[in-house]
This record gives sequence, structure tokens and C-alpha cells, in this order.
Amino acid sequence: MVKIKYVERPGLTNRERVFFVDFIKGMKITLKNFLRKTVTTAYPFEKLTPPKRFRGTHAHRVKDGNEPPSFKVLEKFMDIKEGESRCVACYMCQQACPVPELFRIEAVQTPEGKKKVIRFDMNLLNCMYCGLCTEACPVDCLIMTDIYETASYHRAGAVLHMDDMSKRAVDFDSRRSDEPDRIWIDDSERSKLWGQIRWS
Ligand code: SF4
Ligand code: SF4
Repeated sequence: MVKIKYVERPGLTNRERVFFVDFIKGMKITLKNFLRKTVTTAYPFEKLTPPKRFRGTHAHRVKDGNEPPSFKVLEKFMDIKEGESRCVACYMCQQACPVPELFRIEAVQTPEGKKKVIRFDMNLLNCMYCGLCTEACPVDCLIMTDIYETASYHRAGAVLHMDDMSKRAVDFDSRRSDEPDRIWIDDSERSKLWGQIRWS
């Protein structure tokens, strides 16, 4: 059982009673903060843009000519057209995820003997936004964006589908691809924030 220690409040001195010293002290703090710059925002009327590396809702990068070499190797086995998700259904994201049940990934073989991804759903109600799935993706397909508004009226609204994810990645890259990935400008800025890393 938690023991609570009660401390008797000291009585006010005559000076404090006559000159409202506590009241003046309180008003001083109020006025000081009243003149300070506001640090909160009036959401949803004001919306902040998170850093580029923010872990928001997921998206699928598409085949657009900017794929990494790993995709070029796998591309010949896949049926992926320009502008379609570059997912190769390797399931690495699902393997890396602490909650793999939230993924539904399906692929079929086309008559030409190629692999085609026909389903990639993610139930974000079970997602903890850790980002491990994006780290695991070998073709830089699965990314996280700066979109943080995930509320919906139905549970089904929290499930992402491949087509929407592809559109989201195109939108995200069109807005933010020019920004550096790092949150610090250079290594001296980084040292100021985090200090020097010493490995020995
Ligand atoms: S962000 Fe984490 S929890 Fe969410 S899908 Fe990716 S790996 Fe799973
Ligand atoms: S790791 Fe990337 S390529 Fe593999 S299934 Fe997941 S999203 Fe698709």
C-alpha cells in the first residue's frame, strides 16, 4: 500500500496577506507566458509538416526508372508495367514485421511464366509504425510517408491497398524527394545535436 505523507501548508506572513505576494508571483508567470511565442498548433486548422523521415502511413514506390540495381535483377522474372508498384512479392517485409498477420500478400504466375503481385494489403490497426518492414524491402518499394492522419469511420478504412499505396508514394516523392533524408545538415550539425560518437 502506498503511504502518503501530508505536509502542513505554512501560514501566510502579514506581508504576503497585505500585498498579495502569491497573487503577484502567479500573475508574473502568466504574463511571461502570455507574451511567449505559441508552441502548440490549432489542429486541424493548422497542420505541421513532419520531417521527411517521419514514420507515417505506408506507400509503394512504382516502377519509374529510379529503381535500385536489385530491382533490375529481379525485373525480368516479374510482370510489372511502368507506373505499377515495384513489389516483387518477396515477403521480406512480412518476415521482418513483429505483427506479420497484418500483411496480405498474394502473387500469381502469368501464362508467360512471370510473377505478378495481385494483392498487397496492410491492416494498419495492428501496425506499431516501427519501420522494420521498410528496412527489409530489397527493392526500395515499401516506404513510410509523412501522412499521419489515419482516422476512419470504419475499421476497413484502416486497411491499405496496393493501388492507393502506389499513388501515395508518387505523391510523397513529388513533394519531398528533393529534401535530404538526414535530419541534420552536415556532420558538424549532427555532432552538435548528438555529440561525437566514440567507438572504442
Ligand atoms: S511499421 Fe512495423 S509493425 Fe508496421 S507493418 Fe512495418 S514492421 Fe510491421
Ligand atoms: S519487401 Fe518489398 S518487394 Fe518484398 S513483398 Fe514487401 S514490399 Fe514487396
